[in-house]
Amino acid sequence: MAVVSRCSRAATAATTANATTATTFAYLIRSLSPFSSSSSSTFDPQNDLNNRNKPAVLGTLKRESKGRNVQWVFLGCPGVGKGTYASRLSNLLGVPHIATGDLVRDELASSGPLSSQLKEIVTQGKLVSDEIIIDLLSKRLEAGEAKGESGFILDGFPRTVRQAEILEGVTDIDLVINLKLREEALLAKCLGRRICRECGGNYNVACIDIKAENGRPGMYMAPLPPPPQCASKLITRPDDTEEVVKQRLRIYQAMTRPVEDFYRSRGKLLEFDLPGGIPESWPKLLCALNLEDREDKQSAAA
Ligand code: ADP
Repeated sequence: MAVVSRCSRAATAATTANATTATTFAYLIRSLSPFSSSSSSTFDPQNDLNNRNKPAVLGTLKRESKGRNVQWVFLGCPGVGKGTYASRLSNLLGVPHIATGDLVRDELASSGPLSSQLKEIVTQGKLVSDEIIIDLLSKRLEAGEAKGESGFILDGFPRTVRQAEILEGVTDIDLVINLKLREEALLAKCLGRRICRECGGNYNVACIDIKAENGRPGMYMAPLPPPPQCASKLITRPDDTEEVVKQRLRIYQAMTRPVEDFYRSRGKLLEFDLPGGIPESWPKLLCALNLEDREDKQSAAA
């Protein structure tokens, strides 16, 4: 039986039995760990990731050609652009982009039983409980598997060390890309974010122009305007207010920064400093991932 089906059932059984956090996680790990051995890999993160100029995912891509798609994670502060780059890589590699923030927003919009509880948490910039987020993620993975999906690029999960431990217990993560952007730009990017209420497209009205000073280079990030058909349908996320973004940044430091160390100590973390907007950053990210050829082939085939 597939890992995701077990994951979902175990999560549901454990959460509906009103178990404590610890027993829920222990139950999940006990239920799922036998299956993680089936995806053991020859990926050597020490060799592949230590050299920042040639970190690449050679091991991962080799393994992909043996029949398994990539299983990557995006880490990074609110506003850094995880969704933008995860979605582009998902198109390039043909694996689903799964953003737990989107799963939470879908649940909120559904007016289901969790909706009002989630609304309060999200609008205060706090984290949803590990049990709820794992349940939402398990269901999403299970639905994807039923449609024949394999591999994933996770965005927004894991966000706590406990979530990272659980993920590590249930499957092999090949690579964790830690996106970094100058702090001055993060708040402006969140406040400038706009979403098309019809197609869900993400745009940004902020024009970030940080001048060079004290030996630090300047940085320019052009706005990302919507296409004409979306322009009159833009909405702002209710948690993208200054107060809530600052709270989310504080929570990132306290709860998610340690997740970087978790993966760093396992040799899986690729640090990537965004040099500016998409035109400068995307080619450099592809280069860091040794994927330039992929994009060339895809454009040639288009
Ligand atoms: P951000 O822009 O802060 O990265 P997301 O869109 O990823 O925001 O998530 C929105 C909200 O959904 C978070 O502030 C949090 O309340 C909830 N959320 C998303 N992923 C997780 C997670 N892995 N654990 C707990 N809460 C989460």
